[in-house]
Amino acid sequence: MELLWQSIPEIAARVARGDVSALELCNASLDRIAALDENHGAFLSVAAAQARLAARRVDERRSRGETLGPLAGVPIAVKDVLCTMDQPTSAASKILVRDGRTWQPPYDATAVSRLRAADAVLVGKANCDEFAMGSSNENSAFFPAKNPWDRTRTPGGSSGGSAVAVAAAMTPGSLGTDTGGSVRQPASFTGIVGVKPTYGRVSRNGLVAFASSLDQVGTFARDVRGAAALLQAIAGPDPLDATSSTQAVPDYLEACESSVRGLRIGVPAEYFAAGLEPEVEARVREAIRALEAEGATVHAIELPNTRHAVATYYVVACAECSSNLGRFDGIRFGARASGKRDLTGVIAATRGGGFGPEVKRRIILGTYVLSAGYYDAIYLRAQRIRSAIARDFQTAFETVDAIATPVTPTVAFPLGSKLAEPVSMYLADIYTLPASLAGIPALSVPCGLGEASGLPVGLQLLAPHFEEARLFALARAVERAAPAAAGRPPTP
Ligand code: GLN
Repeated sequence: MELLWQSIPEIAARVARGDVSALELCNASLDRIAALDENHGAFLSVAAAQARLAARRVDERRSRGETLGPLAGVPIAVKDVLCTMDQPTSAASKILVRDGRTWQPPYDATAVSRLRAADAVLVGKANCDEFAMGSSNENSAFFPAKNPWDRTRTPGGSSGGSAVAVAAAMTPGSLGTDTGGSVRQPASFTGIVGVKPTYGRVSRNGLVAFASSLDQVGTFARDVRGAAALLQAIAGPDPLDATSSTQAVPDYLEACESSVRGLRIGVPAEYFAAGLEPEVEARVREAIRALEAEGATVHAIELPNTRHAVATYYVVACAECSSNLGRFDGIRFGARASGKRDLTGVIAATRGGGFGPEVKRRIILGTYVLSAGYYDAIYLRAQRIRSAIARDFQTAFETVDAIATPVTPTVAFPLGSKLAEPVSMYLADIYTLPASLAGIPALSVPCGLGEASGLPVGLQLLAPHFEEARLFALARAVERAAPAAAGRPPTP
């Protein structure tokens, strides 16, 4: 159905007007998943019956003349690290599967319940790297997701399935999570829009925690307005998450239409360094010129601590994951190893058999950097450098309103190409990690296809804390300058 390619606000308006029923849309989404997903691996589970039930309820309420929510009837995919009470939640890990059955949470994550409250229809749970650890979706314990632009390539990660669902128009939007780039990088690799909001903008209640000082829920859509509409629905304070901010949520759709005239854009030299592919740099510089053409001004800035971001992030994230993943002990959730008679034996065997290699690597690294003797030398030092990275941004934002950079040094890389060398995978996160460490909002917007590869390239926009609205205005300006910058992937 053509409508699945359209923008979320437009789809919801058509449902509200009765041009199309929520059930028709839901069936179109389910049909497309059935036709395509075997070759794309975007979904770990599809909840057809639950989705149809939700869609029928939306249609019934419309027929009774009730006003529908802003996401009326829009089919949405949700990354499988967010709890859903009517659908299983695996975090793409075998440790949440017992006797072939995946853990089913007793409650919805707040982001999920807010989508439902806005009348969205959840069609299924999207594939990702195990516990959101990775940059290629290849750490999923089940199967990798594949890039619709070239199925021999990664769609990125960790929210790869969420990006693929939207890039291939199986759903018009999706939720992902971004701890160090997991929304922005897959958005860039698949030619769609991805938003990582400010730390604290969206509740993490019901999110399977990876690194709690970094994790944020983010949104994917085919265009800026779609991503803005989704964020509008899920943002705002939540009594169930003490780290959620009470700061008022502005009107993001209105922000999409505001002018960028006079906005000062910083361009940091550190993000255009060795390793950046020429075809990526060319598109990104073009997008920055497009912002200039719309009346923004461009300024060279410095973010000198950028080079420490990869080391700092992997210390902090591993330390926090080693603590967060302690709860997967074979007693409280999911899998339990059999044949062991003592507590330590059950825990060791469950964790040894249940976690994949990347998760184990990080738990071991994280335990190491937190242990006596290394804590000061490694963990505390990383915390200090993290503050320095945040100060770099603070200083920059004294003279500019936003920052423009590439999202990743390369276009989507071939599946398998970085698996043998985990550090080469970590290094590719260089441009997305600093914003995560600083807690500032960041967005990836398509800015065309690479000349050599023909694959999508994204522009990253960064703004001060809680200035998502400014990111939407700038991203819309890029979109206006190059409508359908990435376009549709070749028909699979
Ligand atoms: N690629 C980064 C990592 O592996 C970020 C992942 C994320 O944002 N969830 O940790």
